[in-house]
Amino acid sequence: MKYALVTGGSRGIGKAIALKMASLGYRVLINYKSNLSEAQHTLEAIRHAGGDGELLPFDVSDKVKIQEILGGWIEANPEKEIEVLVNNAGIRNDSLLAWMEEDQWTDVINTNLDSFFYVTRLVLHGMITRKYGRIINVVSLSGIKGLAGQTNYSAAKAGVIGATKALAQEVARQGITVNALAPGFIKTDMTEGLDEKELKALIPARRFGLPEEVAHAAVFFASKDSAYITGQVLSINGGLYT
Ligand code: NDP
Repeated sequence: MKYALVTGGSRGIGKAIALKMASLGYRVLINYKSNLSEAQHTLEAIRHAGGDGELLPFDVSDKVKIQEILGGWIEANPEKEIEVLVNNAGIRNDSLLAWMEEDQWTDVINTNLDSFFYVTRLVLHGMITRKYGRIINVVSLSGIKGLAGQTNYSAAKAGVIGATKALAQEVARQGITVNALAPGFIKTDMTEGLDEKELKALIPARRFGLPEEVAHAAVFFASKDSAYITGQVLSINGGLYT
């Protein structure tokens, strides 16, 4: 049984990716932090489309829970292979650096960057043994360009971009690819408070992107045919930054 694990699969971009992974024939492990009803909606939508999956709640910023819950699942289910890992769960907590609280820094770094290390390390062992895997990290325009008010978030996402490129070189021989998706402004709960009218004037496509448009790029990296594409960062930003 082949699985795709999508962290933060209950809402937004992760939900759209979870649905696309199911359409590729994967059973989807839907991770989320606390929003059970949204996670159930994702699973229902997958089942409605003829796929299947499981809910696997854990806080990606908590290394003990990752080991306990994800590590426990892997150990208890040796016949279930996680072939695709999408490190998508993320938060932002913006502030100018001069006024940033220590918690704002550590929460954003733990959730967006440290999670990559703890989750990927666990899943990678099986991929190495089976000599196949697709790791897709959801980063951000903010990690490429840097955005004022987001030193914590830009640092975390830039960190994941560096890790993507390094890990890609470590595991290329084992049939594992590691790539990153860098969305610009995408219509989700995360961007709800932003002034869309003002911001879209800056975007050449003159609109925010849709979660499904990011998921489309995730399918590209997840494909077996993308075996020779690794260590790449693909921007999905309507031309905002090239
Ligand atoms: P949303 O806020 O819409 O959804 C966040 C998802 O992540 C939810 O499923 C949430 O679970 C989960 N999550 C948050 N924190 C944790 C945690 N500690 N442990 C486990 N799951 C967690 O975000 P988006 O869909 O907009 O963002 C998805 C990714 O895309 C993020 O990495 C974000 O940084 C990145 N991104 C988004 C952009 C955008 O414009 N929207 C632009 C660039 C990058 P729950 O439902 O339980 O809260």
